[in-house]
Amino acid sequence: MKLINSPVTSFDINGKTIYIKHDELLHPDLSGNKARKLAYFIEQDLPHIDTLVSYGGVQSNLMFSLSALAKLKNWQFIYHSYPPAKTALQQTTGNLAKALANGMQLVTTQQDLRQTVYNTYNQKNQLIIEQGGAQPEAEYGIIQLANEIRHWTHHNGFTELAIFLPSGTGVSALYLQKNLPEFTVYTTNCVGTPEYLQQQWQELAPTNHQPTILSNLTYRFATPDYELWQTSQLIKQLSSTEFDLVYDPVGWHILLNHLQQISAPILYIHCGGLIGNLTMFNRYNYKYKID
Ligand SMILES: *Cc1c(COP(=O)(O)O)cnc(C)c1O
Repeated sequence: MKLINSPVTSFDINGKTIYIKHDELLHPDLSGNKARKLAYFIEQDLPHIDTLVSYGGVQSNLMFSLSALAKLKNWQFIYHSYPPAKTALQQTTGNLAKALANGMQLVTTQQDLRQTVYNTYNQKNQLIIEQGGAQPEAEYGIIQLANEIRHWTHHNGFTELAIFLPSGTGVSALYLQKNLPEFTVYTTNCVGTPEYLQQQWQELAPTNHQPTILSNLTYRFATPDYELWQTSQLIKQLSSTEFDLVYDPVGWHILLNHLQQISAPILYIHCGGLIGNLTMFNRYNYKYKID
């Protein structure tokens, strides 16, 4: 199965046209940059594997995508996390509920997650995928995305392009910049500091082509914020597109603050994550009564 060639639409804001690459439309369950990061495993025949193992947060978008991958491949899926809040386990929708419905086995522990996983699963039939999919195989699908963008840019007669996507691990932004050195990839740090993001890049793949960080020094990861909510509603209305409520409100907010500095046409990569919106919306609604 190949998940490729997502469409591009556009909308205008403050006299500027912004293009959107709709990777959220690649597949109902394997979408966004998670479909790109997992493309290698989706497309490869891996007959010796029957068990997928990963670890991280229980609201993770990657976790849900991995549950869809395991279902597709007929693999067991074992996921390690710290014990979640009771309310997270009671939810009937969102990433955790949907991953469990796909057959994910959740193992909770107080021990270091990565170390526990590597100590426990070392058989040939077990495939470990890093938290957030931060590993070299992710580049395979991002190269495909880079090629689609290059083709689209030439087709439209653009000689320059500014690409934007918000970062968690920063893997998507890094591999995109590495494979599109002729354009500028902008990102913002949604998780941790800008320095932390750069450090992640250095560890994963030292390259002269690092993305350009538009620093986020204000917004904490996955924390409802009224200003971000307003930005997300504005973008939803103008673009007629629903974006994720964890990364994209920060991404759009920071990008809009820098719009006048960027003269090249802007392409915003929709990274999916819409399954997680159901639980994030509840958190916004609880805090700001926006329903
Ligand atoms: C995972 C994710 C990101 C961040 O991707 P990284 O490659 O970890 O930087 C951004 N947006 C959405 C919607 C995501 O699910």
